[in-house]
Amino acid sequence: MGLIVQKYGGTSVGSVERIQAVAARIQATVQEGHSVIVVVSAMGKSTDGLVQLANEISSNPSRREMDMLLSTGEQVTIALLSMALHERGQAAISLTGAQVGIVTEADHTRARILDIKTNRLKRHLEEGKVIVVAGFQGTSRSLEQTDHIEITTLGRGGSDTSAVALAAAMQAEKCEIYTDVPGILTSDPRVVPDARLMDEITCDEMLELASLGASVLHPRAVEIARNYGITLVVRSSWTNQPGTKVIAPIPQPRPLEGLEIANPVDAIEFDTNQAKVALLRVPDRPGVAAQVFGELATQQLNVDLIIQSIHEGNSNDVAFTVNSGILKQAESVTAHIAPMLRSTPAAQDEAEVQTSDNIAKISIAGAGMIGRPGVAAGMFSALAEARVNIQMISTSEVKVSCTVAATECDRAIQTLCRHFNVTTSPARLDQDSIKTQNLPPVRGAALDLEQAQLAIRHVPDKPGLAARIFQILADRGISVDMIIQSQRSRVHQGQMTRDIACTVAQDNAAIARDVLQAAALELGYSEVTIDSAIAKVSVVGIGMIHRPGIAAIMFQALSAANINIQMIATSEIKISCVVRQEQGVEALKVVHSAFKLAGTEVVVVPV
Ligand code: ASP
Ligand code: MG
Repeated sequence: MGLIVQKYGGTSVGSVERIQAVAARIQATVQEGHSVIVVVSAMGKSTDGLVQLANEISSNPSRREMDMLLSTGEQVTIALLSMALHERGQAAISLTGAQVGIVTEADHTRARILDIKTNRLKRHLEEGKVIVVAGFQGTSRSLEQTDHIEITTLGRGGSDTSAVALAAAMQAEKCEIYTDVPGILTSDPRVVPDARLMDEITCDEMLELASLGASVLHPRAVEIARNYGITLVVRSSWTNQPGTKVIAPIPQPRPLEGLEIANPVDAIEFDTNQAKVALLRVPDRPGVAAQVFGELATQQLNVDLIIQSIHEGNSNDVAFTVNSGILKQAESVTAHIAPMLRSTPAAQDEAEVQTSDNIAKISIAGAGMIGRPGVAAGMFSALAEARVNIQMISTSEVKVSCTVAATECDRAIQTLCRHFNVTTSPARLDQDSIKTQNLPPVRGAALDLEQAQLAIRHVPDKPGLAARIFQILADRGISVDMIIQSQRSRVHQGQMTRDIACTVAQDNAAIARDVLQAAALELGYSEVTIDSAIAKVSVVGIGMIHRPGIAAIMFQALSAANINIQMIATSEIKISCVVRQEQGVEALKVVHSAFKLAGTEVVVVPV
């Protein structure tokens, strides 16, 4: 039987008794015939304790010294766990990151793994020992240059990354992540009491659910698992329940050097076979999106990207893309509904339908963009330099998609490959190699109450403006979540303009508004407004690809609860809606139940 890497988080090794229980579990795995490498976190909340000590001494401690300090937490656990194994008669040896040869960047407190030496690990495994490795740490120089070794850490929560990277380097059969929850749930059980434990989820879905799953499994770890084809299992260290399997696609062969992707973007994807339908001036009231997409679903028309942007006055714009082949049908369905969409039955302000064929959808994808400012801005500025005009923008956690004229697609892709230093554009293997028809359309639903919406009005409609705007935010270290560009262009002070809306963390909202407002005159837009009372509700599932009607179910559920949708943005496997903050919890609950995600067993998680 093969090698298993097991990672135990802080609470799983939080006391002597817990460490002894973990030792018993490890020994049982060995007795089943496996070789075992164990990665551990610091005991309980001891890393937080160390951070607090540092803060009592300095408000701005040196990052090198922080690494020196924080790396000690894991060193305590490896020694104790190794002793506990010895007590059970199990041969074991503890190793720090340096002793293994986990080589990282020199960037203290957030280093990425560059390489892992495997000689010593292999030797100890051959000796029949369990190896207990300190998670979250490495050294910034190869061990040959012994006069300049620096201890580094990988950033908070980094032990997951250590474990998956070791599994990749050693070609382990699987990597088990032991934690204090039974696995990955369909939603946050503190909000949705009937959230269910998932049996399985794919890496791509897990990444899009980052806000739901990040506390259980670090997104960087999921990305390594995906790239190297490592099967992850998230399970409780308190029970013998099987937990949730996180399925990786069959990987393309790749070298171990530069193991952790240093690039925020690791794939550029495109689809040249798209057409767009825009519905302008639809009334801003619950049920409109439900009506439009419900009718498209009834006609079995599959919709790809959907965006709904901020409204001017009391009307919205909704736009979506479909496969070129069904544009005519999609147009006629939409044109049929448009006259019914009036703010009042007598009103003259009928919605207007616009279509355009021959558009291409281009996306940049990568887990590295989560929480990293400037990635979308980089995409927009690369496109601007290549004089490619962006028609639609839609973003998700790990993806930014733009539509452009199909004739400009090649140029756009070349530019983006150069800009993000991505040589190949691997198709998303998950989506090809897994039979999506047999998967549930929605795996999980998430709620984010921490975002604020920024609206930038009357942005001149020419290449480069989106790039400038998002660069200003990136320069301030402000990370942008959703970005949506309106469909309606209108004349303002003699030029064509559009509105752009985005969401940022609430803590950043005021400063974001101020820096953008300060640039208004120079960039030519008018006002910038914030709305902090919003909630983002998202559903994620690979099974929604190629399946009509999934968005319609979500919109109908919200409509039935009389919840108005302020913004919509989608990726292939995710649909996000912004609603009023006070309706967020209700929205999550109705969506969770509309997709029948509820379980019958109550899953208890520690607070
Ligand atoms: N002990 C580190 C932390 O608390 C690393 C980890 O547990 O993953 O962030
Ligand atoms: Mg953790």
